[in-house]
Amino acid sequence: MSVVSTSEPDEGFLASEHITGLLERLRREPTLRAWVLTAPTGALATLGVVLDDNELVQLLEKIEELDERALPVTAADIMTPDPLTLTPETSVHEAAQILSDHRISGAPVVGDDGCIVGIVSEYDLIARTGSTVRDVMTRDVVTVPDNATLDRVRAILVTQRLKRVPVTAESRLVGLISRADMVRELAYRWQCKRCGNLVRARRPPNGCPRCGASNMFEEAPPLPAVAACPTCGKPLDR
Ligand SMILES: [Zn+2]
Repeated sequence: MSVVSTSEPDEGFLASEHITGLLERLRREPTLRAWVLTAPTGALATLGVVLDDNELVQLLEKIEELDERALPVTAADIMTPDPLTLTPETSVHEAAQILSDHRISGAPVVGDDGCIVGIVSEYDLIARTGSTVRDVMTRDVVTVPDNATLDRVRAILVTQRLKRVPVTAESRLVGLISRADMVRELAYRWQCKRCGNLVRARRPPNGCPRCGASNMFEEAPPLPAVAACPTCGKPLDR
């Protein structure tokens, strides 16, 4: 029996523990991913990664692939999966360290059964007094199911003035959607001028996958108004 390596010899560094760990972290943290793609040299130096030019190009291609997907439809399509979580017993100091180190502005608090018991934001950490997350967390947490439409998620973020909303499946936490995630969807939407096809991409694609037109993509049209109840302000289903 012989063992055949399937990876190109010069792509070996991508399989190193350091890089696979970094890619896994980037998969979970779209904000960090956007930062690395915007200012790669500085960002990677901060993350302790030093690469030659050839390796840098290969790594950036891998990172861009993490953003490639079909036009999102549901909360599950745009959420950060497996978000960092805190437990009620986490100390306030450790919670502050976690938010600071990962450049995130809030994290869900999860009990032993995987269900959300609260959420901690930067505001909670600086506004409230206590030694553990249980003491300072916000207990009334608005969540969305993983099959909620993007319109619904957007309406909840807007009408409830939330900065982030946890995503659940069978009442267990499966992801987190922040305002930044919604803003990214706006930035990544392009429309074919010829056939109206909407696509998701970092830059306008060259060819339209539906009608085949070349260089016909323009900025996607503005979003429709948020549908909220004029009396209670709660988002309306659409
Ligand atoms: Zn088209």
